[in-house]
Amino acid sequence: MPNTYDPQNIFARILRGEIPNNTVLETEHTLAFRDIAPQAPDHVLVIPKGAYVTYDEFALNASDAEVVDFTRAVGEVCKMLGVQPGEGGAGYRMIANSGENGVQEVPHLHVHIVGGRHLGKMLG
Ligand code: AMP
Repeated sequence: MPNTYDPQNIFARILRGEIPNNTVLETEHTLAFRDIAPQAPDHVLVIPKGAYVTYDEFALNASDAEVVDFTRAVGEVCKMLGVQPGEGGAGYRMIANSGENGVQEVPHLHVHIVGGRHLGKMLG
């Protein structure tokens, strides 16, 4: 059964310009902005502009253009933050909390890009 998208979720409202955000990058299909409650010095959320709830749904149903745009935006954000391990950065963690067990709070797909400090073990 497909996820039901709630058009009143906070990220949908950000995309409609109803509430402000601290934009890092905007492309045709993707928006990246700073998390309002950062868990580390670098904490950026990358979201598709389309109405997707989880990454699996996006990966299976989004157009090639959306998937490519989103994926490249993740790379660009890492570059902008200077966290790329292969380019002298100290690394980062990319997280996509999904559904109840994943403890997803906002029901619009977002990946967290978190870095700027050592993050410890993944589920520690
Ligand atoms: P998740 O638990 O993966 O759904 O994470 C939702 C994230 O959205 C949390 O890290 C919140 O701090 C963040 N968040 C909620 N409202 C806003 C907002 N208005 N602007 C930026 N980040 C937000």
